[in-house]
Amino acid sequence: MAVNARNPVRETYLPYGRQWIDDADIEAVTAVLRGEFLTTGPAIASFEAKFADRVGAKYAVAFANGTAALHAACDAAGIGEGDEAITSPMTFAASANCVLYHGGVPVFADIDPRTYNIDPVQVERLITERTKAIIPVDFAGQPADLDAIMTLAEKHGITVIEDAAHALGADYEGRSVGSISHMTMFSLHPVKHITSGEGGVIATNSEALYNKLLAFRNHGIVREAEAMERRWRGKWYYEMQSLGFNYRLTDIAAVLASSQLDKLDRFVARRIEIANAYNDAFANWEALTIPYQDPRGTSSWHLYVVKLSLDRLKASRDEIFERLQSENIGVNVHYIPVYLHPYYEKLGYRTGLCPVAEAAFESFLTLPLFPAMSDDDVSDVIRAVKQVVGECLEEEAVYPA
Ligand SMILES: *Cc1c(COP(=O)(O)O)cnc(C)c1O
Repeated sequence: MAVNARNPVRETYLPYGRQWIDDADIEAVTAVLRGEFLTTGPAIASFEAKFADRVGAKYAVAFANGTAALHAACDAAGIGEGDEAITSPMTFAASANCVLYHGGVPVFADIDPRTYNIDPVQVERLITERTKAIIPVDFAGQPADLDAIMTLAEKHGITVIEDAAHALGADYEGRSVGSISHMTMFSLHPVKHITSGEGGVIATNSEALYNKLLAFRNHGIVREAEAMERRWRGKWYYEMQSLGFNYRLTDIAAVLASSQLDKLDRFVARRIEIANAYNDAFANWEALTIPYQDPRGTSSWHLYVVKLSLDRLKASRDEIFERLQSENIGVNVHYIPVYLHPYYEKLGYRTGLCPVAEAAFESFLTLPLFPAMSDDDVSDVIRAVKQVVGECLEEEAVYPA
């Protein structure tokens, strides 16, 4: 089976994800560029209010990126030297790195083999005296088992920082993601649901956490007279009370995010439409398993991840990946379990820690999914996958009579 023995399924390369910017976005950004404030102006508070409202939270705090937002959330949760936070291995490294930033220890709980989300039973087994936080990840846009996780957290006095980088616009038991956990992180990176170039948000219902997040974003500086530790001196006076960072979002980015948020419902509806087209095309095909959907939630479909039936295929995932790439289909792999990265191996994490995640990773393949995909793009993906994976299927097993 020579690669590229025929013309590729499509002429141009289709990425796995990308932004959708329209004229309204460009006009909104231009207006800020012509105005007074490029940063720390009115666009921030106005975006935060609109975002909080959309996800059903009391407060939203915008950050320079999602990783900075996670860094701040771990600070607000009080994670310090030697404290533990339990997270999923099936995620981008940032979900665990944010714990390391504070001298904490990421503890990886294995995933549920159907949803690929962190398994609450595994989480409970790993809770110790030192556990300060649980960081569930809403993998591919499907909410984690949030009721079970919140119940565990409340029982043990632990903070839940939900990594919802994939799940803006998703629901769980009729509630919006962003309204459920103590803090919920969203990313505004261009492959995510809405973008500001770089950007991140924490949604929370807690005023205490909100104030900590605000301070962490701005060097630990406090300006309100009633929050001062020392005697009020004058209008110029401000106090640095804790060690924070410059993690502010610019007004340029905030106004773009705000304009994008107007389109979120449309973006999610189109993502669902594409996911349904894939589901219809691939359901009941022995070559792969389509993403299982837990009826308690509604995914906002950041990723469409299929699990290849490697025992039925003559090729490995990586060979199939290469062949689809040469058809100009930008498949991807999400994710290598975080602790298998060399940095984590140097910290002492080893293969075998989360067997379900490790096995799933070997057979995962992410198909292109983003709202600006045309119906033709979707058909190209379906055609290419059926062709390439179909050619790799083992002959029907012949059973003795
Ligand atoms: C994108 C992403 C992040 C980090 O967001 P950035 O805005 O890129 O810093 C964190 N966790 C997950 C699961 C992500 O997909």
